[in-house]
Parts: sequence; C-alpha cells; structure tokens
Amino acid sequence: LLHAVDLHKSFGPTPALAGASMDLAAGEVVAIMGPSGSGKSTLLHCTAGIVAPDSGRIVYRGRELSAMSDAARSALRRSEFGFVFQFGQLVPELTCLENVALPLRLDGHKRREAERRATGWLDRLEVSDVAHKRPGEISGGQGQRVAVARALVTGPRVVFADEPTGALDSLNGERVMKLLTEAARDTGAAVVLVTHEPRVAAYSDREIVVRDGRTREMELTGR
Ligand code: ATP
Ligand code: MG
Repeated sequence: LLHAVDLHKSFGPTPALAGASMDLAAGEVVAIMGPSGSGKSTLLHCTAGIVAPDSGRIVYRGRELSAMSDAARSALRRSEFGFVFQFGQLVPELTCLENVALPLRLDGHKRREAERRATGWLDRLEVSDVAHKRPGEISGGQGQRVAVARALVTGPRVVFADEPTGALDSLNGERVMKLLTEAARDTGAAVVLVTHEPRVAAYSDREIVVRDGRTREMELTGR
C-alpha cells in the first residue's frame, strides 16, 4: 500500500532521518518505536506527505508523493488518510460532534449526512455522551476517542497516529488503542502508530525501531 525507501531529512545541520524505510500493507497495524529524537515523528510526517524528505522515495498506491503537486497531495491526504496526534487537536470552538463531522463537511457533505455519520462514530468510540460538549469540557481520554472518531469518519485507507495515547494513563491508553485497532480492522484501514510504550505497541502486527534516523525491523514471534 505504502512504501517509503531510504528517506533522508535534515533540519539545518541535524539529520532527523538518515536512511529510513518502511512498508505498509493494506489493513496492517505497524508501530514505530525508538528513543526520543530518533526521527519517529519525522518518519510519520514524511510518509503521510506532510513533510517532504530531502531524498528517498515514498510510493502510495503506485503514486510517488514527491511527483504530485501540493494540491494533489493535500487532496490525497484528505480523502485517504486520517490523523491522530498526542493531544487530540480538536477545534476548541466546535462541539465534539461538529469536530468529527468537520472532515466530511470539508469534503462537501451536507450537514445532516455529516452529523449522522459523525454520531455513528462517536457511538462506536463510546463517547456519544460528549457529542454536544466542547473539547475544553471533556477529559483527555474522551478527547482522544473523539480524535480517533474524527480520523476514521472519512473511511481512510491509512490512519497515522503520533503518540495517540501519550497524554493518557495506561488504562485509558489501552482503551483508546483497543477501540482504534478494532475500528481500523473493521474498516480495513492500515494504522501507522508512533509510540514509546511497549504496551501500546503490543496492539500492532509489527514493530519498526528507529535509531538515529535509521529504521530496523523487529523480529517478532508469537504475535
Ligand atoms: P520524540 O519521541 O521526542 O517525539 P521523535 O523520535 O519523534 O522524538 P523527531 O521529532 O522526528 O523525533 O525529531 C528527530 C530530530 O529532528 C530531532 O533531533 C529533532 O530535534 C529534529 N527536528 C524534528 N523536527 C524539527 C523541526 N521542525 N525543526 C528542526 N529540527 C527538527
Ligand atoms: Mg515525536
């Protein structure tokens, strides 16, 4: 589905990626692990087409991201990718329902239809009770569930998640991971997940370790 080959990326003199590669198959859940500053977020941002690498190839469904125009890349991100970050990054002025409906509204869906689908996803993530509250009025765990609902509402083929449970206690973190991976499996979405926590990575099919900007695939048995 997605192939990233030998990515290099520097910010000024600091190399963030120095030969990072990653393959993602349809429907697969991959965890990116590694120490702080090793290049995990940069790898995620490059493979999601948010940051351009200095060199290397990223091919998504046969199309090389660097060969696409900015507009085409944004359109691809909006229609095929979903995103969840460490702190949900919900729009504070909107209710949770409106936040989840927003990607559909941006895609031109009518309010009624967008809110109907958003309601279904809030329900699915077990946060229907906060639908009419604003992000400032709900807990961190509820916020991350709303963020997951928003990432999935458009039916993406890939969900990119950067420490989606990083701000949660371990119980809430596991709950969010369980809901995210179950929902992804049901819809056939692949998940690329950056995490520090082995207990979170345990929800993946496969782990990739990044060290000093280079990737290494883990040999896993029994998962
Ligand atoms: P963490 O676990 O702390 O989130 P990370 O593995 O996600 O770390 P990255 O954020 O990818 O690490 O950063 C890799 C390196 O690139 C670091 O040295 C960081 O300081 C640098 N870096 C990342 N983004 C930028 C930026 N926008 N400008 C300058 N330097 C950056
Ligand atoms: Mg990071």
